Amino acid sequence: MNELRELYQEVILDHNKRPRNFGVLPGFSGRAEGYNPLCGDRVSVAVLMDGDVVEDVRFEGAGCAISQASASLMTESVKGRTICQTNELFQQFHQMVTGDGPVVWAEEKLEPLSALAGVREFPIRIKCATLPWHTLLAALENDSQDVSTE
Ligand code: ZN
Repeated sequence: MNELRELYQEVILDHNKRPRNFGVLPGFSGRAEGYNPLCGDRVSVAVLMDGDVVEDVRFEGAGCAISQASASLMTESVKGRTICQTNELFQQFHQMVTGDGPVVWAEEKLEPLSALAGVREFPIRIKCATLPWHTLLAALENDSQDVSTE
């Protein structure tokens, strides 16, 4: 548990304790479930789209502090972004947690995501941090399918 403690920085603890955008999203347009069997993390992400823009996003689920905090931080960082911008943001986030390179966030509001940079030292935790993002992207795809059938 000692090595994990280094990961559990103040931001992560705060978001795990008081997750933002947690709960049911009424009238959601896309939704997906994610599961990380390595850790037992479960997360469900629902999005409400306004055209191509993520108007609202909420998550539910239970798991380790990394997965919960990552989901919470994610919802705060993608609201108001297009699907394309959300994909780009995930690429940057993925590079940060896998240690492929330094990440300089273009916006101050994205800086809290850096709290999760420490997982690059613990490969088994990378999936905890990326699970909410993979689930979000699946929820966005669900939405585009819904749109195409209308
Ligand atoms: Zn986990």
